[in-house]
Amino acid sequence: MSIKISSQFDAGAIDVVSVTSAGDIDLNIRKDSAADITQWFYFRVQGAQAVPLAIRFLNASKAAYPDGWKDYQAVASYDRDTWFRVPTSFDGEVMTIEHAPEHDSVYYAYFEPYSWERHLALLDSAQLSPLTQLVDLGSTVDGRDLNMLIIGDQEAEKKVWVIARQHPGETMAEWFVEGMVEALLDPADPFASQCLKEACFYIVPNMNPDGSVRGNLRTNAAGANLNREWNEPSMALSPEVYLVKQKMQETGCDMFLDIHGDEGLPYVFVAGSDALPTFSKEQKAAQEKFIEDFKIASPDFQSEHGYGESPYTPEVLTMGSPHITHLFGCLSLTLEMPFKDNANDPDEVNGWNGARSAKLGAAILQPVLRSLRG
Ligand code: ZN
Repeated sequence: MSIKISSQFDAGAIDVVSVTSAGDIDLNIRKDSAADITQWFYFRVQGAQAVPLAIRFLNASKAAYPDGWKDYQAVASYDRDTWFRVPTSFDGEVMTIEHAPEHDSVYYAYFEPYSWERHLALLDSAQLSPLTQLVDLGSTVDGRDLNMLIIGDQEAEKKVWVIARQHPGETMAEWFVEGMVEALLDPADPFASQCLKEACFYIVPNMNPDGSVRGNLRTNAAGANLNREWNEPSMALSPEVYLVKQKMQETGCDMFLDIHGDEGLPYVFVAGSDALPTFSKEQKAAQEKFIEDFKIASPDFQSEHGYGESPYTPEVLTMGSPHITHLFGCLSLTLEMPFKDNANDPDEVNGWNGARSAKLGAAILQPVLRSLRG
């Protein structure tokens, strides 16, 4: 029986170079659909049960973030429900997965995927709650629905905005939002009920539906990196940002959380708006307080490792969270979760994964509450 490789499914992405029946598989990681960004992969292998596969990614060193392959283990699944890490190595040129599948059909991916179907199911189940309103903000470049969940009372004094997956391959971001939404809608969660007394939540679980389905890491169907579009979004190139920013200007914003994943660093951390020349002492203090409170709420969150300080350049204003601080003067954070693992508390079987991202999404309600109360 011969080995077959396919990627024609939701978020699938790989270029096949060659396959032998002995299990030697040579691949290239595919570029984003309209941009020169190579990192996300997701494919299915059939007919390789018990065959010791050597899956080589020949162009790994030319990826957007080659450091992402250092100490990285790819994920695999037989049922697309349970994902586990498989032995993966990177010699500086080629990345290799060595794995003998236990079943005839197996999927390999860069990180545990978050499917379009699951995205729709999240919206569907959330709208059944009387606390929630499901809103259509408009359409993406490919014509997909850009949806938002409004949770709580829109008359509430404060507005909290949460967006995820501007970079579509950072699927941990939507797992995080799923955990946060479930917590907010849980009547037995005291942090949720108190948060909803203080604020209304505007949540965009997936900012980049087209990139998600196309299997892109970083860009939308027009090739735009949405997190560089906030200064001058356009309906032609970045309708996703244009529509969300328009709505934010309507509602106002008192807190902004932009959820991401980081390819290189094996830690959970935030990046703030420190690079803005107008960033005040009071804004810095509010940011520091949130960080300290978040550490208490979740031991997965830390502030020792992160991006560090960077000087102000005009590019800063094109990015979501500093742009929102600039516009509204509010606390705005870019949250980064690892593709690899949390090196402070590693999990050899799973690495960082969807479930752990969801727990973090629920835990963030604690620092959010404390911050809303000032
Ligand atoms: Zn990102």
